[in-house]
Amino acid sequence: MATQVDVADVELVGVRKSYGDVVAVDGVDLRIRAAEFFTMLGPSGSGKTTTLRLVAGFEQPDEGTVHLAGAEITHRPPYARDVNTVFQDYALFPHMTVAENVAYGLRVKGTARAERTRAVEEVLKTVRLDGLGGRKPIQLSGGQRQRVALARAIVNRPRVLLLDEPLGALDLKLRQEMQTFLKSLQRDLGMTFVYVTHDQEEALTMSDRVAVFNEGRIEQVGEPAEVYDRPATEFVAAFVGTSNIVERDGKRLCVRPERIELGNDGDPATIDDVVYVGAFTRYLVLTDRGERLAVVRQARDASFARGDRVAVGWRAEDAFELPEEG
Ligand code: ADP
Ligand code: MG
Repeated sequence: MATQVDVADVELVGVRKSYGDVVAVDGVDLRIRAAEFFTMLGPSGSGKTTTLRLVAGFEQPDEGTVHLAGAEITHRPPYARDVNTVFQDYALFPHMTVAENVAYGLRVKGTARAERTRAVEEVLKTVRLDGLGGRKPIQLSGGQRQRVALARAIVNRPRVLLLDEPLGALDLKLRQEMQTFLKSLQRDLGMTFVYVTHDQEEALTMSDRVAVFNEGRIEQVGEPAEVYDRPATEFVAAFVGTSNIVERDGKRLCVRPERIELGNDGDPATIDDVVYVGAFTRYLVLTDRGERLAVVRQARDASFARGDRVAVGWRAEDAFELPEEG
């Protein structure tokens, strides 16, 4: 969002956090803009949750500072920060109704009953649970429960909403529905979302910008297309989508599977494996010079069989050079 005013809603400066010998967050600098859908993407153990907990105030950094809307909040307790968190496991109160769960935070804050009722009704409508306020969590589906957790977290309109793998417990179809819903909810609310996931497809689908985490550090921050088309490191190239990495003329090049052409021009090769995936087909191709390449084709555009001889190539602009490792 290059046109947006560059105000940092959440800012981390030189943040480090260790647990004993384990360095969970190893020097992170981040600027998250107001009303941005910002995703922290990385494999398990890369420091995403710890970073989120440092923003929420559940943890304090060993070094560095945390800022919210320009104010330093590094040592402020969670309740004194204008942020809320949605966790994967919902953490709803089982003995309370949906409406009581959602109203809980407002009650603690001392919001008057009439205002509470109005706010709860409105937010239940927002998350498409109107009419279900009287139910207990156990009477809801997984997707509905997650939306109660969401309603509870946004009812008092925090400046920033933190979401830690909130869709992890849902099956694929529901997860995809919720991704679309969360993205439009964030846009409608105009709220800053900081979202944690290990799922690269989810990150690319939902986010304005993505930070790719690896071993407690950020390898790249960028818009989804930037991170996918121009990965800054070999780690990003491999973690975000599938990449072919080949050595040519002393350079290390990365080519995405959908950018490789199978035809009459190029390097001689053999089809080594064919996986039919419905809309497209995935080929494993072995070049005569000994490279193994993953190639993806629309099912209707090509049909090769195992053992077929082909020529592989790509346009120069579809291969990008990777920096030296280290
Ligand atoms: P992610 O959310 O990316 O999976 P985490 O931030 O949870 O990663 O963890 C980063 C590293 O810190 C991991 O090695 C993890 O085992 C360790 N870690 C996280 N929390 C604690 C804790 N409370 N005590 C000890 N080690 C922890
Ligand atoms: Mg985590």
